[in-house]
Amino acid sequence: MTETAFIHEKALLHHLECPLRSKGSTAEPQSPILQCAESTARWLIAEQFVGRAPSARETRDFFDRTGYFQPRIDLPPQEYERHVREGLRACRRLRDLIWRCEVLQPVSPYTLAVGDVRITGEYAVLRSSRKKKHAFALYLRHQGIRSKPLRPDVVSFARWLDLANRSTAPANRQWGIQTIGVMHYWVTRELSAEHKPDRAFATDVLLGAVSAFTGHPFPVPGEHCLSCPTLACRPDCIEAAECSTAKDEPISSPPPLA
Ligand code: SF4
Repeated sequence: MTETAFIHEKALLHHLECPLRSKGSTAEPQSPILQCAESTARWLIAEQFVGRAPSARETRDFFDRTGYFQPRIDLPPQEYERHVREGLRACRRLRDLIWRCEVLQPVSPYTLAVGDVRITGEYAVLRSSRKKKHAFALYLRHQGIRSKPLRPDVVSFARWLDLANRSTAPANRQWGIQTIGVMHYWVTRELSAEHKPDRAFATDVLLGAVSAFTGHPFPVPGEHCLSCPTLACRPDCIEAAECSTAKDEPISSPPPLA
């Protein structure tokens, strides 16, 4: 009997970028700004759901108290100022979005069966006050927009497919929605875009993703190699710390594929 594997949506995303990159861990390193924004959004959405409306000051205080907030002592002054500006912008962006939406579902966990794998994660379901028949799963983003405004990834496909199932469940009929999407919302830039894939395509993408997860790991060169902590595809660099080229120069060419 095949054993069911569980993987978190973001760990799957991290794993797909390159399964060799992490030393046994599949946890994706996220930016502190994004982690603070996710915690703050979870709280704001929960408050909105029960009819409360925290002030801008309360929002900022909550943001600064989240576990990922980096205090001044840990950062050089310029870096700290940049974080403060980004934090202010993130709080404003979150409030702009959440206050003009109705919360259909606060941030809630999901488990999506794809082949023998269960993708787990969490998201909130919101509805714009101007589009009552349309709901979206919120996906907060930070950076990663150099080449295109929207790059749907496995997290987006998984949330979309789960919301597609959830929105047609009898318990959620009162939502009265006809269309769904995944709202990619950049927390520090004036940018958002909605992802509305086709169900068959989303299913194929996720099946491909989980087969890569359960299959033999192979190196996947790319932009993420620039911050690879292990250089596991390079046997000549046994320890990243001992590999001077890794520290002094960006990796200019991708490693050879086996
Ligand atoms: S340097 Fe090698 S192990 Fe690291 S992310 Fe790139 S391909 Fe993967």
